Amino acid sequence: MKRAVYPGSFDPITFGHLDIIERSAKIVDELIVGVLNNSAKNSLFSIDERVKMIESKTKHLPNVKVVSFNGLLVDFMEQNEATIIIRGLRAVTDFEYELQIAQGNHVQKPDIETVFLTSSLQYSYLSSTIVKEFASYGGDISKFVPEDLIPQIYAKYNIKEN
Ligand code: ADP
Repeated sequence: MKRAVYPGSFDPITFGHLDIIERSAKIVDELIVGVLNNSAKNSLFSIDERVKMIESKTKHLPNVKVVSFNGLLVDFMEQNEATIIIRGLRAVTDFEYELQIAQGNHVQKPDIETVFLTSSLQYSYLSSTIVKEFASYGGDISKFVPEDLIPQIYAKYNIKEN
């Protein structure tokens, strides 16, 4: 049984994240989307909001579940008997940080492997930060996130969809 964790803040989930979830769910037996509850990071959405948004968009994937976690990823992996970390790579700028984290995790727990999926071309620019930046000015985010999540995102900036 190959159980993987796809960790991140998902603040909020984007089409780029969903693409990685869909693709990695095909190559592992079980995928846990690990939503990081990091009090040091000032997130726009609460942990419950982030979990619910992801759940609503992954319902059609029977081998995917969404779980929040605190603390070290390797500990969360151990608790869930998962041995694979899934990460997405958009550009070289992601690479240096991701390499260090992956190697750090591997040193801590040699049984854990990180698997990188390269971003699909159409989402290689996309990040939660870009979504928030556009949404904060009432910009069009329909190419970034699923349609039904848009009102919830605008609401954080007191913007009504027109
Ligand atoms: P973090 O909070 O760890 O920075 P995010 O929640 O932004 O991470 O993203 C989680 C994971 O999804 C990371 O591996 C990141 O590289 C990947 N990711 C984010 N956006 C995209 C995208 N557009 N295409 C592919 N992977 C992505």
